[in-house]
Amino acid sequence: MKIIVCVKQVPDTNEVKIDPVKGTLIRDGVPSILNPDDANALEGALALKDNNEDVTVTVLTMGPPQADAMLRECLAMGADEAIHLSGREFAGGDTWATSNALAAAISKMGEYDIIFAGRQAIDGDTAQVGPQIAERLGISQVTYVQDLKINGEELIVERQLEDGYEVIKAQTPVLFTAIKELGEPRYMSVTGIYDAFREKEVKVWGFADLGIEQDQVGLKASPTRVKKSFVPKPKGKGMMLDGSAKEMTEKLILALKEKHVI
Ligand SMILES: Cc1cc2nc3c(=O)[nH]c(=O)nc-3n(C[C@H](O)[C@H](O)[C@H](O)COP(=O)(O)OP(=O)(O)OC[C@H]3O[C@@H](n4cnc5c(N)ncnc54)[C@H](O)[C@@H]3O)c2cc1C
Repeated sequence: MKIIVCVKQVPDTNEVKIDPVKGTLIRDGVPSILNPDDANALEGALALKDNNEDVTVTVLTMGPPQADAMLRECLAMGADEAIHLSGREFAGGDTWATSNALAAAISKMGEYDIIFAGRQAIDGDTAQVGPQIAERLGISQVTYVQDLKINGEELIVERQLEDGYEVIKAQTPVLFTAIKELGEPRYMSVTGIYDAFREKEVKVWGFADLGIEQDQVGLKASPTRVKKSFVPKPKGKGMMLDGSAKEMTEKLILALKEKHVI
């Protein structure tokens, strides 16, 4: 069984701060990390590999040269090979253009059974790329996957809903988007790190390797443009209540009524 996991290198948004004077984002010194949902997706794939000898796991990213470090991390966790889509032609793409590039790379890889993506990336935050790849490839998809088991030829998937979950039988080829419940990502092992740099391979593919036209990828191909970006204004000051529990409850109810919340 061949599994492909789409992984994105993202700025650690927990570390991004706002400059109080300029009101802009402070990006300097912000570490880049493997997108958290993608780490869960990779864990889901590696768990299948743990239990089934014939499983191979390939990680795929589109990103700048420094994304190599994230791919090595995925190899050190246990992925078998890594593919890095890199080139100016891909730059500035929106989700449509990003999905086109990733789908073209997947088609070039030949036969596959399962494609994993994260539910969403913590920087773009759209949760569109996974489903768009499935559409582009013409395969079925299950989003918000929280559990996955192989039962003979069938894949039994739990898909999280707001108020529970649904159980879906899926057949390959299929794309899943993973949420954190799918599995706590494992640590890299020492031998894994050694292998990631000495034994395993990161293949770098450029635009010319994909056999698609420039009007499919990058900024020019993108149907959407970011016209403006800005830091949201801070919310108003909070209100501290005092008095006994009963008094505070009365004040709280009154304040909520005044604001027409209740
Ligand atoms: C309107 C718009 C304009 C944009 N313009 C620019 C721009 O000018 N310059 C720019 O740098 N960015 C731009 N972006 C951001 C860029 O489009 C997104 O980073 C990219 O399309 C992925 O979308 P996302 O981050 O929302 O991912 P999501 O859809 O939230 O990601 C879901 C999953 O898809 C997979 N995935 C997503 N991206 C990748 C990737 N690159 N490689 C491998 N797997 C991936 C991961 O598994 C991820 O968990 C723009 C985004 C939008 C919405």
